[in-house]
Amino acid sequence: MKTTIRTKFEAFYGGPGALYTSPGRVNLIGEHTDYNLGFVLPGAIDKAIYLELKPNNRDQVRVYSVDYNETVEFGIDSAEKPEQQWAAYIYGVIKEMQKRGAVPGGFDGVFGGDVPLGAGLSSSAALESVVGFALNDTFDLGFDRMQLAKIGQMTEHNYIGVRCGIMDQFASLFGQQGKVLQLDCSSLEYKVFPFEPQGYRVLLLDSQVKHSLASSEYNLRRADAEAGIAVIAKHVPGIESLRDVTFEMLEEYRAEMEEIWYRRCHYVISENQRVLDACQALESGDYETFGQKMFGSHDGLSKEYEVSCPELDFLAEKARRFDGVLGARMMGGGFGGCTINVVRDSEHDAFVDEMCRAYKQAYGIAPRVIDMVIGDGACRLE
Ligand code: ADP
Ligand code: MG
Repeated sequence: MKTTIRTKFEAFYGGPGALYTSPGRVNLIGEHTDYNLGFVLPGAIDKAIYLELKPNNRDQVRVYSVDYNETVEFGIDSAEKPEQQWAAYIYGVIKEMQKRGAVPGGFDGVFGGDVPLGAGLSSSAALESVVGFALNDTFDLGFDRMQLAKIGQMTEHNYIGVRCGIMDQFASLFGQQGKVLQLDCSSLEYKVFPFEPQGYRVLLLDSQVKHSLASSEYNLRRADAEAGIAVIAKHVPGIESLRDVTFEMLEEYRAEMEEIWYRRCHYVISENQRVLDACQALESGDYETFGQKMFGSHDGLSKEYEVSCPELDFLAEKARRFDGVLGARMMGGGFGGCTINVVRDSEHDAFVDEMCRAYKQAYGIAPRVIDMVIGDGACRLE
């Protein structure tokens, strides 16, 4: 991909630009905790978007997408969002920078990548992050990485219509090879933990299904949590989110709650605790415990929070019974998408074969297998 970009750039613009990259991400544990102001544990991956760019001194943005094989051009101060979705991300990042008083100049660019689209690896955050990082560096705009992450997040909110949290952009910008990042979604403080399970690797199995329930159910989950919080807030002053709620409070006022509110809240509080426990396990190199927490996360998502689906349960359950799997769980919003699996190197091929065979037998299609390692965040190359 890097070579293709270099070659195209040279051919289009007659000379080299500067090459930047920013990766996709996985989330090891901590699901549906972000909007409840809890903890997540993402890491950047070795799949990324690459962008070569050079100022053109003419207040025009001219970018070629290798993967869509098309060029879009717009004025740097244009009030009109480009029609192409991929270009809207670039436009949005520029607008968000301008809102914050920065003055990026016009530029020529070529970009492409190998983050699978829409598989839950956040190709969109990789795109926003590489654009933000490259413009910031090229035009000396003075944003720090957290500000760039917010610029990416607000691009999704204001120009794409996706009201996402900050985890994806954060992971793309802050990732470190062999490390995962415990992000506190309340304070936005983070801690770095080693993630190098010797003799094991991480792989994703894409169920290739996407049930349409996701957005309506998401709103229901938020409402259930709010209802639970409201019950407790009547008794305990200062309770604003599930982050403030302890297991003791939940039990004490359980009788006043609908069973479903209780279950949803119990999941979130448990999942936050699992993230903290999983990180403690990483500190002592105890990957067995880490993997157990992943299985626990899946159980909670499936039975308490109820955002899984038969296909994801099938993949997670089958992985759990497979000798050589440390941990596995569904990853992302749910109702489809991927499972994330930590599998012994020596069992990798047998695991993939068996999972593909069994899934195909049950659902008529093989899952897409995505191998990956935990890599670095946004940077300029060479
Ligand atoms: P994801 O879960 O991968 O972030 P999204 O639907 O949020 O899925 O984002 C995918 C969108 O991001 C694509 O439709 C496209 O507009 C943009 N995008 C991602 N990767 C690329 C790429 N390699 N080239 C061009 N656009 C891309
Ligand atoms: Mg996205």
